[in-house]
Amino acid sequence: MKLTDIWKTSQVPTVSFELFPARSEKAAEKLEKTIDELVALKPDFVSVTFGAGGSTREGSRQLIEKLKDGEGLEVIGYFAGYGLGPEDILAVLDSYQAIGVENILVVRGDPPHEGGFTPHPESLPYASDLMAFVRPRYDFCLGVAGYPEGHIDAPSKEKDIEYLKLKVDLGAEYIITNYCYDNQFFFDFLERCQAAGIDVPVLPGVMPIYSVKMMETLASLCGATITDEIRQGIDALPEGDKEALLSFGIEFAVQQCGELIEAGVPGLHLYTMDRSESSVAIVNRLRSEGLL
Ligand SMILES: Cc1cc2nc3c(=O)[nH]c(=O)nc-3n(C[C@H](O)[C@H](O)[C@H](O)COP(=O)(O)OP(=O)(O)OC[C@H]3O[C@@H](n4cnc5c(N)ncnc54)[C@H](O)[C@@H]3O)c2cc1C
Repeated sequence: MKLTDIWKTSQVPTVSFELFPARSEKAAEKLEKTIDELVALKPDFVSVTFGAGGSTREGSRQLIEKLKDGEGLEVIGYFAGYGLGPEDILAVLDSYQAIGVENILVVRGDPPHEGGFTPHPESLPYASDLMAFVRPRYDFCLGVAGYPEGHIDAPSKEKDIEYLKLKVDLGAEYIITNYCYDNQFFFDFLERCQAAGIDVPVLPGVMPIYSVKMMETLASLCGATITDEIRQGIDALPEGDKEALLSFGIEFAVQQCGELIEAGVPGLHLYTMDRSESSVAIVNRLRSEGLL
């Protein structure tokens, strides 16, 4: 089912989880367990990332197939076009179409940190170019990425919104946002979207706090602000107590999600990092409080 149809019929905000393909046998075992625990929550859909340059091409397709056919879940296949030429783009999307994927999130992707990858000479520089290429060729429900704090390379938040509007004008039917820890960034972003005439559903991405190191690393990569509230909350925890940190992260996310739901978001998209514990606790708490 297309996401836009799911949102038309859903009585409550949707619950969805992002997963990525496992890169080792040990990670694959952990992912199995994560999937079992997340499936038990009956999410409205899940999403599967795609390694830029095609690095997880086969793994992403296999995971999507498993989630769709094995678990009966609706799936968004992310597609990062960085470095790929037209033939590869078509091959990946054809393979997704062949296994019945109806929803795709088109992103640009970034050059791999390890380097050593040569982009195809005809690869497309921006997600809007990918949208222009993909939209006329497929009937997928297409979405794109949005950045409440502005994309890290964007010259300004205003320019970033202009480029987002271009992606919507080229056929994006929904937006999934990068996470932020202060909802005000998301609400201001929504206002900028509305002012720019962007009227598609905007699904907030929510990143629970899993570890201080991961939080710092990811935030520095994508430019997310770690708020004083988070820093002070973590400082007050017993040093090195992983359980206490997870609980703090869960409480913080429950509060954040509650506020987003009250503001009328179409759903919550949880970045699981292939872990289940926090997502399960967050969704169960929101449900027990009647928010979902
Ligand atoms: C929900 C979500 C899912 C993601 N999934 C993946 C994934 O599966 N795999 C992966 O590799 N990455 C993924 N990413 C990361 C994403 O690839 C990076 O953030 C990337 O740097 C930007 O992708 P984009 O699609 O937003 O790019 P774009 O929309 O192309 O924007 C990239 C930058 O260029 C600017 N820009 C856009 N258009 C133009 C233009 N025409 N002229 C000049 N400047 C322009 C923008 O302001 C921005 O700064 C995801 C991000 C999000 C938020």
